[in-house]
Amino acid sequence: MTGSRVITKKSAADFDKMKIAGQCVAAMHAAVRACAEPGVSTSDLDRAARGVLREYGCRSSFLGYGGPENPFPGVICTSPNSAIVHGIPGEHVLRDGDIVSIDAGAIYEGWHGDAAFTMAIGDVADEVKNLLEVTERALWAGLAQAKAGNRLGDIGAAVEEVAEPHAIGVVRDYVGHGIGRQMHEAPSVPNYGKQGKGLRIKTGMAFAIEPMFNLGTEQSVVLDDLWTVVTADGAFSAHFEHTVLITEQGSVVSTLAEPRTL
Ligand code: MG
Repeated sequence: MTGSRVITKKSAADFDKMKIAGQCVAAMHAAVRACAEPGVSTSDLDRAARGVLREYGCRSSFLGYGGPENPFPGVICTSPNSAIVHGIPGEHVLRDGDIVSIDAGAIYEGWHGDAAFTMAIGDVADEVKNLLEVTERALWAGLAQAKAGNRLGDIGAAVEEVAEPHAIGVVRDYVGHGIGRQMHEAPSVPNYGKQGKGLRIKTGMAFAIEPMFNLGTEQSVVLDDLWTVVTADGAFSAHFEHTVLITEQGSVVSTLAEPRTL
């Protein structure tokens, strides 16, 4: 998925709208978390998230994404087990021992928020618990580097460093991104990189940082629905994402119930 190549500087007023979109995304996450249990289908999760959009006066960033050829049919992506990202909500019923990645996006007065998390359904294997814990920790390590004066390579290097001691594949085919009036804007924000390299981060930018870590290799395949990305080896995959705003007052994670200044 690619958007504009232009990096636009956001104002404080723009960021205020992105914070409302972000709070809507956080509430969509909470609604999904509350109903995800064995026996529930991924389309049930989508239905729970739809109600929240209406409450916040937001539209979905995902519904219809991709254009008339193959519009995305959900307001969230639901990616169980070996699915990495972009899974379509549907008949799949969650079972004890599954994991499911939930990605949600909302638009408030034209401004986007985008965030994802992976949750365990019932009891999961220890190595799977570790995968989730390491992926979320990598996200926060990346967010900590998202500050004015740093470079994009600092984010990628920090994410990669958390994965390094573990037998984990860091997905390289899909990456984080700039975000604002479009969900996917320039620049790309890879989950790998070199400290001190890449684009200089400046006030007025906003990024979605989103490590995708696999228990097996980093290789991925797209299914026949032309959306769902799965691991090539069938190993479980986790995905954690937040939107971060580079403001005059510091970096703010907007996709939490309460925006958090880092
Ligand atoms: Mg994203």
